[in-house]
Amino acid sequence: MKVVYVDNNATTKVAPEVLKGMLPFFDEFYGNPSSIHTFGGQVEHKIKEARGKVAALIGAEPQEIIFTSCGTESDSTAIRAAILSNPDKKHIITSKVEHPAIKNLCEYLFKNGYRVDYVPVDRKGRLDMDYLYDKLSDDTAIVSIMWANNESGVIFPIEEIAPVLKDRGIVFHTDAVQAVGKIPIEVKRAGIDMLSLSGHKIHAPKGVGALYVRKGTKFLPFLIGGHQEAGRRGGTENTAAIVGLGIASELAARHINEENTRIRHLRDKIEKELVTQIPNVLINGDTAHRLPNTCSLSFEYVEGEAILLMMDELGICASSGSACTSGSLEPSHVLRAMGVPFTAAHGSIRFSLSIYNTETEIDFIIEKLPPIIARLRQLSPFWNKLPENQKKVYA
Ligand code: PLP
Repeated sequence: MKVVYVDNNATTKVAPEVLKGMLPFFDEFYGNPSSIHTFGGQVEHKIKEARGKVAALIGAEPQEIIFTSCGTESDSTAIRAAILSNPDKKHIITSKVEHPAIKNLCEYLFKNGYRVDYVPVDRKGRLDMDYLYDKLSDDTAIVSIMWANNESGVIFPIEEIAPVLKDRGIVFHTDAVQAVGKIPIEVKRAGIDMLSLSGHKIHAPKGVGALYVRKGTKFLPFLIGGHQEAGRRGGTENTAAIVGLGIASELAARHINEENTRIRHLRDKIEKELVTQIPNVLINGDTAHRLPNTCSLSFEYVEGEAILLMMDELGICASSGSACTSGSLEPSHVLRAMGVPFTAAHGSIRFSLSIYNTETEIDFIIEKLPPIIARLRQLSPFWNKLPENQKKVYA
């Protein structure tokens, strides 16, 4: 059975160019980059090259990039660095819709004496900026707001927030794991202090990420050990994966136009066709400020997991929310924060595309999904009790 993979916000396929570029680092160039001998030294050179490529993708200087093991490590490093290097400040601001990498860390820090304010979002998943600005205080150590949401795809106004925080000397971190490679990012123009990204969201392998730390930002390492990464992250470098992340960054820069034209078109097509062919479907998120590859739809009065299972039988891989929270039948914290009605939140499906998706695949989903929803609704007591005049196409 052919797999139609539209779950790219969960993880992506490793690009063939990335895989090819990585392979020699397992059995040919396997030296330790810290070794004095030439054999190891040549590897150090490749890491330097990769650092330059990652930096170029986000408009940073190479020395502002620290390689990590994943987006989660980058997030943890950023927040811990900010609070440890500002020990007198005990307040953190984040949003209600962050990935668990930030959300659960903030909950942990709250239990350990920090005050945490969570900025709410509106029905379209847009940040309440007044709330954010109201909560800023001299005690605020860090504001961490994601660049784009992994479930709704909504893009937050990072460049608008940065100058306000700069004026008050507050560290600004953004989790850009979903934004990097999908929309243009210029860290210098944005004026942020730290930014997290993850390899496996941009066609590099799992197990590698990066943290941008603006030159001059106070920093303390999370992993304390050897002198690697200029003393900012101990541990022998994952050379092959770092080289892979470098190549993936180069490719992402090259493909960003395609993301914003062909992929956006395919995403819009899936969305438009499903909301016009199927009654009672809601689009989650601000369609004017959204990642080009992401679409979150709520099919009222059906279970998202049932839809996923029926799509799975046809080889269609999507998600009923963040991959990290699936496995639970509760609507995700993101959809709850957006106030998606209970009857809709349970039937939410996220489609997330990549440059490897084709129009044929999208047409296949558009053909297969309406009968799946119709079948599930026949079995739904809620749907069957719904007055006929409330069954309608919303588009
Ligand atoms: N932040 C966001 C917005 C994400 O979507 C993810 C992964 O889904 C992460 C952080 C965690 O990244 P990683 O899986 O590399 O730890």
